[in-house]
Amino acid sequence: MPLIGLAAQYRWNASKRMPARFWGVLDPYIRAIQASGGVPVVLPPQDPERLEVALRRLDGVVLTGGGDPDPALYGEEPVPELGEVSPERDQSELFLARYAARNGLPMLGICRGMQVAAVALGGRLFQDLGRAGFREVEHYQDAGPPALSHSVGLLKNGLLAELFGARFRVNSYHHQAVRDLPSGLEPLAEAPDGVLEAARLADHPFFLLVQWHPELLPEHWGLFAALVEAASRRSPA
Ligand code: MN
Repeated sequence: MPLIGLAAQYRWNASKRMPARFWGVLDPYIRAIQASGGVPVVLPPQDPERLEVALRRLDGVVLTGGGDPDPALYGEEPVPELGEVSPERDQSELFLARYAARNGLPMLGICRGMQVAAVALGGRLFQDLGRAGFREVEHYQDAGPPALSHSVGLLKNGLLAELFGARFRVNSYHHQAVRDLPSGLEPLAEAPDGVLEAARLADHPFFLLVQWHPELLPEHWGLFAALVEAASRRSPA
């Protein structure tokens, strides 16, 4: 079974006596990988040398959701609406995304993961959709799963069309989005207000970025199945 590395998320320890962070992965990511026939492996942030040791043994990677990438990474000053940033996550995940892109390692980037991957390859983000004038579509829904928010329309045929059809609804828990796609990444789907909701790296076995959270929607776990399938083509059975 293919080994799928998951970029770890963190929560602050509630105890003030022990101001450390827990690094882990929210449960739906783990269940989605397992249900798809993969073996989840949690990857905490660490230096590139160690990450590379891990990546050489992994068959695929998921960049998970979380806070905002540091806008300094794409040459901007922070706006007041910027959320929490994590230099550790940024540095580690930039490396994961670049390694996956360069080495043909199957990768699925989710929400923050889509944004980090775009920045890693030279793209730029909207730091805050409301500030940037996107007010017509709810991209930061209150309701948890299984609630959906807005629709997306496909710009290209391919995996998303096969799984969901030309127009489908997604959940939406983001206030940032990709503004400029770097060269090599092609847009796949957008919300009715033009916010980019999916992209892929051309000339790569599987490098898919989605702005919504498929791990929270079992009917979207076909995306994880596609990742695991691409990963299994790399690993000995
Ligand atoms: Mn959205």
